[in-house]
Amino acid sequence: MTARWNFDKPHRCPDCHAIAIDLERPKPWRIYTCCRCGTRFTRWPHLAWLLPSAGIRCSEHRPHTARTHTRRTR
Ligand SMILES: [Zn+2]
Ligand SMILES: [Zn+2]
Repeated sequence: MTARWNFDKPHRCPDCHAIAIDLERPKPWRIYTCCRCGTRFTRWPHLAWLLPSAGIRCSEHRPHTARTHTRRTR
């Protein structure tokens, strides 16, 4: 099931409020995945079946295949 993001804070997970999108400006036509709790969220959940999934867009927790220039130290 896909949740609807908070309109005032679309870059945050609507469930746990972690910052799940900091690699790009949140786009309403994509489905994002929270890096902390795994919740999938988008602007229009009822359209989720036709929206592409952007996956995790958090610079700290994204998969290893991503670019390295924004990598942070722990
Ligand atoms: Zn979350
Ligand atoms: Zn994260």
